Amino acid sequence: MSTLYIAGRWRTAASGETREITCPADGAVAVTVDEGGAADARDAVRAAREAFDVGPWPRTPAPERAALLSRIADRLERELDEVARLESLDTGKRHVEARIDMEDIVAVFRHFASLAQAEAGRVVDAGVPDVSSRVVTEPVGVCSLITPWNFPLLQTAWKVAPALAAGNTFVLKPSELTPQTSIWLVRALAEEGLPDGVANLVLGPGDTVGAAMTNAPEVDLVSFTGGLATGKTIMAAASTTVKKIALELGGKNPNVIFADADRDAAIDNALTAIFLDSGQVCSAGSRLVVEESIHDEVVDELVRRATAIRMGGPFDESAETGPLISDGHRAKVEAYVAAGIEEGAVLRCGGERPGGELAIGSYYPPTILDGCTSDMSCVQDESFGPVLTVETFAGDTRDAAEDAAIAIANDTIYGLTGAVWTQDAGRAERMARRLRHGTVWINDFHPYVPAAEWGGMKQSGIGRELGTAGLHEYQETKHIWHNTRPAPAGWFANPQD
Ligand code: NAD
Repeated sequence: MSTLYIAGRWRTAASGETREITCPADGAVAVTVDEGGAADARDAVRAAREAFDVGPWPRTPAPERAALLSRIADRLERELDEVARLESLDTGKRHVEARIDMEDIVAVFRHFASLAQAEAGRVVDAGVPDVSSRVVTEPVGVCSLITPWNFPLLQTAWKVAPALAAGNTFVLKPSELTPQTSIWLVRALAEEGLPDGVANLVLGPGDTVGAAMTNAPEVDLVSFTGGLATGKTIMAAASTTVKKIALELGGKNPNVIFADADRDAAIDNALTAIFLDSGQVCSAGSRLVVEESIHDEVVDELVRRATAIRMGGPFDESAETGPLISDGHRAKVEAYVAAGIEEGAVLRCGGERPGGELAIGSYYPPTILDGCTSDMSCVQDESFGPVLTVETFAGDTRDAAEDAAIAIANDTIYGLTGAVWTQDAGRAERMARRLRHGTVWINDFHPYVPAAEWGGMKQSGIGRELGTAGLHEYQETKHIWHNTRPAPAGWFANPQD
């Protein structure tokens, strides 16, 4: 089966290379796909450019674009179980979690289908007679869409749906580790009638395929979700031709628990905040910031509950969490934990690979590092694994306690998400406004809706996905001034007069 899709044709890589995709739960080969290279990426960019410049898609009426997005949502609903299975095989994540991701993706396509028709520009008052002045939106052009492995189809949907809603053409490169659901999506788009060249898919490594997609002068916008270091490389590359960029990068997200919080809810959600999907979530609550007076009670209970979390493969119904994406990623998480202990953090649970039947996969247990301070690398760096660091704060007065919590929670180069747990409504509002993070949860952790913007402050990124801003990322704004009674400007003297 050919797995690169360029100019409306499925084809193999120019180099003839292939890659085996293995399931991190047991190392079994899930599928073999074509391994694209820079030449394939350049072909795909050219196809997308031509489809934008001469093709019908940018000029297709919004209701037709919306209808296509709705058909993708319908199709995913019908094929949900199978697409979730592909996602589980690539990522090792539990099938039940992958199914929830798919339901979210259906909602994302429906959200952008309705937005596509809602925004038709606006008329502005020119301030002079006989002039019609209006602001219209147009597609940005050719988009390079580059996505990570943790929520492969979800992150892809956040880009593909608004890109198409706005009338763009694109080249998509999923993570080289998790290509199967992107193949499904591009096949579905083609079969649902998207014109040739609008959607192009190139699989392969970031430093060849991704770099070619970022450097190509024909590209107008690069939308990237992934790590901070890669984001910086992409930003620098995009600057050579002043491409627009949208970056969704990492996070080191504080979960602040005050002594007046609903203790059971706060503790239970603190577990989900960090250990869901084995911590491989950009918005994971990896940094517990707990009021000193309740530290022992909260952390003892977290340790007891974390130790009991059952790990297992995607289709093991008794499992509560799965493996990490790869042995290489696990080695990075192990190094991160070792550095934390070296710096003085106290390992309260986890920290050791499981044996027995789990030894075959890339498993790493829920791990808690207590006694942390803001200057430690394990507090500042993203582990992207199931590792929770614990810091405490205290204050003699209400304001002093809030100031102390905020000082810790904002002491990070990142600014993606944060949460505050308290039963004091005023405190909750004050904290929510002071947290320098793009999403803030009050007495909750993790939920999002497609209608609300998602993205990071500081080094967590540039721009927003979802919401209405998520569509605007893929649109240019144009002002059209129409003088209905043309006349000489009369500024410069005309010597013949
Ligand atoms: P990564 O940066 O290694 O890779 C992401 C994508 O970029 C992959 O497709 C990769 O092949 C590609 N890439 C790598 N080098 C490239 C280059 N030089 N030029 C162009 N493309 C290149 O990240 P990852 O390990 O796949 O994902 C984990 C990271 O993603 C974490 O830091 C996480 O926080 C972040 N993330 C952020 C969000 C968010 O919404 N902010 C969501 C999910 C993941």
